[in-house]
Amino acid sequence: MRRQEHIEAFVEELWSWFTGHKRVLPWRDLNIADDTERAYRILVSEIMLQQTQVSRVESVFPVFLEEFPSLRDLASASNREVLIAWRGMGYNARALRLRDIAGSICKEHGGVFPQEMNDLQSLKGIGHYTAAAVRNFAFLLSTPCLDTNIRRIIHRTFVGPECPDGTWSKGDDYLLGIAAQALTEALRNSRYTTADWHAALMDFGSLVCTKTHPRWDICPLTRRGICKAAYKVSHGRKKAKEEPGRLVGSTFVPNRIFRGRIIEELRDEPRGLPQEEIGRRICADWSPRHHRKWLGGLLKKLNEDQLIIQSGSNYALYQ
Ligand code: SF4
Repeated sequence: MRRQEHIEAFVEELWSWFTGHKRVLPWRDLNIADDTERAYRILVSEIMLQQTQVSRVESVFPVFLEEFPSLRDLASASNREVLIAWRGMGYNARALRLRDIAGSICKEHGGVFPQEMNDLQSLKGIGHYTAAAVRNFAFLLSTPCLDTNIRRIIHRTFVGPECPDGTWSKGDDYLLGIAAQALTEALRNSRYTTADWHAALMDFGSLVCTKTHPRWDICPLTRRGICKAAYKVSHGRKKAKEEPGRLVGSTFVPNRIFRGRIIEELRDEPRGLPQEEIGRRICADWSPRHHRKWLGGLLKKLNEDQLIIQSGSNYALYQ
């Protein structure tokens, strides 16, 4: 099958599938006239969705926006206020990054959300995918991009399955080229928008062409015989990155989990807590002799990241 025919068939099947399976999510189809406030909500959702499940984001997203209803509200928030509103999300440094992006838009762009890729990507904390997502979803400016879902669908459909170790044989430049061709085809004579197309890819990647258990039984691409990975994906997993942490009993717990627990404990302690008390609260096996130095290292790093601050012998959320 020629590439163009392949793309046309792929687009046709995906649109047809999307018509019956589109997910309703609180950051979709926003009925907000103001460009900046619409883009602000898309940015919040995109940063939240990095490394966090959709169901979790669905519950925290409205709470966060109630606390910070506008870009300017978030831009002027303190670290402590942002971290409290981020409760339940984990990876707390993201919350400060989001606030800093809002601050940069206020300072460098007069509070008007930029629309050009260069301007968006020049904001610290916004990479190619997030910039493209803001353009596609908030401004309806068609911009090809790759996230984990899109990369997986494009590679499997047009190249083949992932390698047994979970890596891809074709690089992002190649895949982005196909994503761009598919996007052009998807919007040709279409009643749908670029936001719809990217929502379709996200939903298809979450519900059908999933990472470990692709649903060949219900996949329209299998039926039509146009996926180069159909029935070929092995469930090999990428070797997990080794990350710092320690054994609690027989279970390895990464330091990032302990970091999250520290922030969680300090959210409800405006006066802060001493190191020993933090240790007791976050470690089931707390032993000052064995763990004091290790915990001191975690607290020092959180302090450097401006997530917490030391005041006397207590640690509290950064103000
Ligand atoms: S046939 Fe399988 S691998 Fe290909 S798109 Fe469908 S679910 Fe994914």
